Amino acid sequence: MSLAVLSVASEAYPLIKTGGLGDVAGALPLALAAEGVQMRTLIPAYPAVRRAAQAAGARVLDLPVGVADQAGGRGNLFAFSAHGLDWLALDIPHLFDRPGSPYLGSDGRDWPDNPQRFAALGRAGAEIGLQGVEGWKPNIVHAHDWQAGLTAAYLAYSGQPRPGTVFTIHNLAFAGKMPLAQRVPLRLPPEAASMDGLEFYGSLSLLKSGLQFSDRITTVSPSYASEICTPEGGMGFDGLLRARGDAVSGVLNGIDTLAWNPTADPALSAPFDAKTLKKRAANKAALQARLGLAVEPDTLLFGVVSRLTWQKGLDLLLEVLPELTELGAQLAMLGAGDRPLEDGFRAAAAANPSQIGVVVGYDEALAHLMQGGVDALLVPSRFEPCGLTQLCALRYGAVPVVARVGGLADTVIDANPAAIAAGAATGVQFSPITAMALTQAMGRTAKLYAQKAVWAKMQTSGLNSDVSWRGPAQHYAALYRSILQPA
Ligand code: ADP
Repeated sequence: MSLAVLSVASEAYPLIKTGGLGDVAGALPLALAAEGVQMRTLIPAYPAVRRAAQAAGARVLDLPVGVADQAGGRGNLFAFSAHGLDWLALDIPHLFDRPGSPYLGSDGRDWPDNPQRFAALGRAGAEIGLQGVEGWKPNIVHAHDWQAGLTAAYLAYSGQPRPGTVFTIHNLAFAGKMPLAQRVPLRLPPEAASMDGLEFYGSLSLLKSGLQFSDRITTVSPSYASEICTPEGGMGFDGLLRARGDAVSGVLNGIDTLAWNPTADPALSAPFDAKTLKKRAANKAALQARLGLAVEPDTLLFGVVSRLTWQKGLDLLLEVLPELTELGAQLAMLGAGDRPLEDGFRAAAAANPSQIGVVVGYDEALAHLMQGGVDALLVPSRFEPCGLTQLCALRYGAVPVVARVGGLADTVIDANPAAIAAGAATGVQFSPITAMALTQAMGRTAKLYAQKAVWAKMQTSGLNSDVSWRGPAQHYAALYRSILQPA
């Protein structure tokens, strides 16, 4: 059965992206096409999106009834195809046609009218779900994160027969809160302000709307789906998530295996595959040279490609750098974020440049060379909904050394004796997430690295694991169908 699905998101690669949400929203429609799902993607018409719409000769449609007056300004819907996706861009200029980040003003603070902006997105998602557009009507509306959360409430409160609904959590840390008084201008009914509606600790939460009113809730890994149902990981939503029971599940993300392809990557000094692993040595040497490290082929080279934040646990790594260098290993780091971490790693590199190399900044090409050159990629995250860097590492023959949490736990197979004997191991996991456990994991990694055959087998097992969007797309397609045809 062919399915029509409307995806509602505040960003989607390649038109507009600030993080993993954009990657997923951009990649899923392409992967779902192979599963018989025809997806159209509704995003706000930020300046870059308007430009893409104009370049693609977009059809200009009237906004669905119920959107324009609610947003307090006139606007259109641009319908166009670009980059293999079918886009619907919500063009309400006074809300979306402004320079800078989709979410933040130049002062780094949330745009003050974010409630209105993303309520308009939710309203448009709901109206397209109910009325369709250009004779196309979705069977399912799939909304992402708090910015699209109101779609579910508007559909539920419409009182009309509605399409099935899915809500995906990419980041539970953002509740999308607004004052309760916003209920009236946003035309939500009185019950929306109650516990059974969108009320969340004295505010309205757009995220809660998605959790409360969607037929299914997904997040980006099975382990994270369990973790968010606990008080420790639930950010205040765990009670509601537990109450939703079986409606909550985890579907892993994939990566773009064309953009991340070690056999044809212009950022690598030497492309390679599972059968030509030895060629990686040239990438390692290039990376060591680039970062000013001693160019030593047999020295264990750890890597980090990450935002430098508390979530990523890199303060723990900073703490155990003396242990890393004592092992005789090297560290290549690419990252940007919190100032104290940037300064800490810079200082460590200045003090020991032959063993520690640090590049502060965001550099896509260097990220590829890192994955193709380091021996092991360190990911000591305190929480990690899915994580993409360890998937890139697997695909590039870098052995991931990860905290046993969220998507990291679900995508890396720990090199315990049984997994090594079975030839299944792809990396090293550690728990609890402490400096001591990280030190032990680095020590374990060094011992594995010294066993050349075991190490090479871990690399090839990683290279052969499927980190594409194919499996995840099959999961989503099955989920959509399960809503329409309950067992
Ligand atoms: P998060 O979305 O929480 O930052 P993920 O692991 O899910 O973490 O995704 C991060 C993505 O951003 C990965 O593809 C990674 O390669 C990339 N990335 C992170 N930091 C940098 C950097 N400094 N330079 C280049 N790419 C980076």
